[in-house]
Amino acid sequence: MRAVVTGGAGFVPSHLIDLLVSNEIHVVALDNLVTGDLRNIEHLRDEPLFEWREQDVSEPFEVDGEVDYVFHMASPASPIDYVKIPIETLKAGSYATHHALELATEKEARFVLCSTSEIYGDPEVHPQPESYFGNVNSIGIRSCYDEAKRYAEAATMAYHRTKGTNTAMVRIFNTYGPRMRLNDGRVVPAFIGQALQGKPLTVFGDGSQTRSFCYVSDLVRGIWLLAQSGTHLPVNIGNPNEMTISQFAEAICAELDLPLNISPQALPEDDPKVRRPVIDRAKELLDWEPQISFEDGIKETIAYFKKQLI
Ligand code: UDP
Repeated sequence: MRAVVTGGAGFVPSHLIDLLVSNEIHVVALDNLVTGDLRNIEHLRDEPLFEWREQDVSEPFEVDGEVDYVFHMASPASPIDYVKIPIETLKAGSYATHHALELATEKEARFVLCSTSEIYGDPEVHPQPESYFGNVNSIGIRSCYDEAKRYAEAATMAYHRTKGTNTAMVRIFNTYGPRMRLNDGRVVPAFIGQALQGKPLTVFGDGSQTRSFCYVSDLVRGIWLLAQSGTHLPVNIGNPNEMTISQFAEAICAELDLPLNISPQALPEDDPKVRRPVIDRAKELLDWEPQISFEDGIKETIAYFKKQLI
C-alpha cells in the first residue's frame, strides 16, 4: 500500500505518517515548508517506507507509481499563520485541493480531505454535529481559512459526484501534542511556553470562550479509521471535553505547580465563542472515540516543550 500525504512535515500529518509507516504503508510526503518543519519528520530519514519531496502542492505536481490513499492535509492551520499568509491559505484550500483530487482520481485512490471545525465558524448551534451548516463571516480575517476549507469540501463532493472519486472528509477540532510549534500562536503551545518561561499567560478576551482539546494520537487514529472506511460523509474527529480558555490556563498552571499569572489581551475578530464536537457519527461509523485523557495528553505535551526550551 502507498499513501501520499500533502503537508507531510506539519504537526498532525507527521503523526499520521508515523501511524501509516507502523502499518507498513509506504508514504510519499509533500510539503513546501511554509509552516511545516523538517524536524517533524527527521526521525524517518532512514526509513525505507518513507519518501520526502519538497513540493508546493498549490502548483501542479505528479506522483509516479501506484497510490492507494491521498491525504490532503496541506494548509496553514494556526490563526496567526493564516492571517499572515491569507493568499497561500486560500490556494491550499482551492488549487491544492484540485491537484490532490486529480491525483486521487487518476490513481483510483481513496481521498481524505482534512477539513476543520472552522467550517462551523462562530457556531450558533452547540455542540456541533456534522449536519450544522455553520456561521462564517466571509469577509472577516479568518475567512481565508474557513472559506478555503469550505471550498475544499465543496470541491471534494463535486469530484465525488461527477468523477466518482472515492472521497472522505474529516472535520478536525482543536488538537494538541508534541511537534506543535512553540511560537505558532495557538493556545496550547502559547500557554505552555509562557508558563515554562515564567511569563504571564496571554488570555484573549475574558477567557470565557470554550474549546475542546483532542490529543494528536487520538486524532490520527480516527483519520486512519476513516480512510479505511467506505464513508463519503464528513466526520467530526475531536474530543468533546470542553473547557473555557480561563480553565485551560488554570489547568496548565496547576500542572506546572505555578500560581495563575494572566496578561489579558484583546479578543481577535470572529474568534468562535464556543466549540465542541458531536462525535456520534465517528462512534457509529468508525467505532472511534478519544482514549487519551486531558491530564495524560498535557503531561506528554509539556514534556515535549520542556525539551524544546533547553
Ligand atoms: N487564545 C488565547 N491566548 C493565546 C492564544 C489563543 O486566549 O495566546 C484563545 C483564542 O482566542 C481562542 C482559543 O484560545 O479562543 C483557541 O485559539 P487557537 O489559536 O489555539 O485555535 P482556534 O480554536 O481559535 O483555531
